[in-house]
Amino acid sequence: MEVTDEFGREVTGIRVSLTDRCNFDCVYCHNEGLGDTRGPMDPQDDEMSADEVVRLLEVVSEFDIEAVKFTGGEPMLRNDLAEIIRRTPDQLETSLTTNGTFLPDHADELVAAGLDRVNVSQDALDPEAFAAVTQSGAYDRVLEGVNAAVEAGLTPVKLNMVVFEPTAGYIPEMVEHVAESDGLQLQLIEYMPEIAGHPEWAIDIERVHEWLAEQADRVERREMHGRARYLIGGGLVEIVDPVENPSFCANCHRVRVTHDGKFKGCLNRHDDLRSTGDMSKAEIREAFVETVTQRVPYYGEYLVKEEGEWVPNKEYQQHALLPANDD
Ligand code: SAM
Repeated sequence: MEVTDEFGREVTGIRVSLTDRCNFDCVYCHNEGLGDTRGPMDPQDDEMSADEVVRLLEVVSEFDIEAVKFTGGEPMLRNDLAEIIRRTPDQLETSLTTNGTFLPDHADELVAAGLDRVNVSQDALDPEAFAAVTQSGAYDRVLEGVNAAVEAGLTPVKLNMVVFEPTAGYIPEMVEHVAESDGLQLQLIEYMPEIAGHPEWAIDIERVHEWLAEQADRVERREMHGRARYLIGGGLVEIVDPVENPSFCANCHRVRVTHDGKFKGCLNRHDDLRSTGDMSKAEIREAFVETVTQRVPYYGEYLVKEEGEWVPNKEYQQHALLPANDD
């Protein structure tokens, strides 16, 4: 059974945050849309248990969901990650977004549990720039983690690189790196200031598109997200550019789950969270359907452009507005 919102967007993927703890402290982090909630590294009692994650996945897999991506925080801080992956319903393609530091010891175990793909965040090829962005010294460990993922057969391993002022200069090196290495792809993610703040760190992503198009042997456009893919010297580079991009939002087919078990229809919104804690499967089903059917594209619908500025659409603000302002 397929679930679709009023804008014709069916949901085909679910992105589940397993924790908001992290062993890095990346300066740009939106923490899956919750902002800086990260606390101590010890297990937190607001995290979903493995049973709760599995129950939720069993419910959503009734709705033609094809894929689950586990994220965080750092999902590999969960000691029960392999168990969660092993118990994930078979119909879901299972992937993970990680900073890579725990892959050297665990990649094989996760593959044996059923992990299909991995994205590893790597924002620069230079230890100092990497340390400045991630506020961590684990550069070598991340490179080892990428190798471990390739060797464990999780290819193509996607390297996620957030493109903003401190990293933009490393794009040519990263492009060359994936072109020269077997089993790697590069995903350039436009810096999103919506939750993380610091709009001044953003750079013009169109210039990156133009530069890649100049370098590319071939340019492909993917139907999903209308994303462009650039084939450069045997490497594949993709840009994720959601900021102020209505066509990106019009093609969003994903619902999120926060580490504490709330459905979240949009990364950038805080007013569409629906709790699933202590709910029966029937109630989770209802919360999921409500989350999906009430989703609206963020740019172009929830925010609309007036006189060159993105402003909230009053239709979605009506309860917050005082009658005097409701013109
Ligand atoms: N700890 C894991 C990791 O390092 O990949 C998973 C969580 S992290 C929040 C998931 C992805 O979000 C990473 O690829 C990260 O680079 C990206 N990300 C976080 N904040 C971002 C922002 N403000 N703009 C663009 N991408 C961001």
